[in-house]
Amino acid sequence: MIEPIDENHGRAVDREFIQLLLTLLCSSRLPPDLHIEPELAEDPDFQKLHSYILALRELSFALRNGNLQHFVDGKGFILGNLKALQSNLRHLTWQAKRVAKGDFSQRVDFLGEFSEAFNEMTNNLENVNKQLHKLASLDSLTQLHNRMALDQFLAAAFAKAKLEGSELSILMIDIDRFKRINDNYGHQAGDLVLVQIGNALKKQFRTTDMLARYGGEEFMVVQPQTGIDQAIKIGNRALEAVRNTVIQFESEQRLLVTVSIGVSCIVPEDQSFEDIVKRSDAALYEAKNSGRNRLCVFKEGRALEFNMTCL
Ligand code: GH3
Ligand code: MG
Ligand code: MG
Repeated sequence: MIEPIDENHGRAVDREFIQLLLTLLCSSRLPPDLHIEPELAEDPDFQKLHSYILALRELSFALRNGNLQHFVDGKGFILGNLKALQSNLRHLTWQAKRVAKGDFSQRVDFLGEFSEAFNEMTNNLENVNKQLHKLASLDSLTQLHNRMALDQFLAAAFAKAKLEGSELSILMIDIDRFKRINDNYGHQAGDLVLVQIGNALKKQFRTTDMLARYGGEEFMVVQPQTGIDQAIKIGNRALEAVRNTVIQFESEQRLLVTVSIGVSCIVPEDQSFEDIVKRSDAALYEAKNSGRNRLCVFKEGRALEFNMTCL
């Protein structure tokens, strides 16, 4: 027999159920004595709904607190979306850690407006970092590489040459009687000479070489994959280029300067790039002592002996 529908009773049950759902979904804390009708509590579909809402509560609470490791079981549209958000935030956190370590190439493309903000930030960081890096590696007067950039390049070039058994040469270049220029024409004129000699030298070397201001009125050129004969050739060309450089002052005064150059190349016994630098320095010292305006070279003789040759 079909029971007549008690409309009032049906509505009353629905209202209770809606209240229960609202409590489960909306209240900030579930009351410990939350009453669920036994008939409803035993209903398998209600049990699914109940555990789904509890999973939503747990995951959304974990997300709100930045807990990205919290795991909840279950699928479905809302839970699936929250899980996707959790995984995106996890990935983003990994990317932020990379940025913190200096990897400014990180970009995000899965979080809409947030992606735009993040990408703008990393883009700016990348640009500023490039500019800072450039500034930090340049000599402010001559705009040549500075000592820090030189040391880094030299260390890498030395390691590579050792590994590959390839050639590596170093030229030390020092302006002759530079103090006299300062004394006779003033420091500003001295600065101008440094800039113009730097420019003249720049044209003499290949893009694979590194020309740097070593300090004061000294320059250094590192030439990877370059043996001693080639280094001497290029060094002599630089010597000639400086001789032919007419320094032009604002006062229309003109000046010619010369440089002395010391050259040395890597030998199997070298333990660090400092060993080559020391020999180039000794060769430069010889060039100064034997009259300036010339190039001297440390050339390997028998075993560990070297002969100094000035050209
Ligand atoms: P030598 O031929 O033996 O190399 O003689 P020198 O006069 O070139 O060498 P010395 O070491 O006696 O003098 C170098 C001078 O270079 C002294 C220092 O005041 C000057 N100097 C170093 N850095 C700068 C700079 O940035 N600008 C100017 N104007 N002078 C500098
Ligand atoms: Mg000097
Ligand atoms: Mg000098």
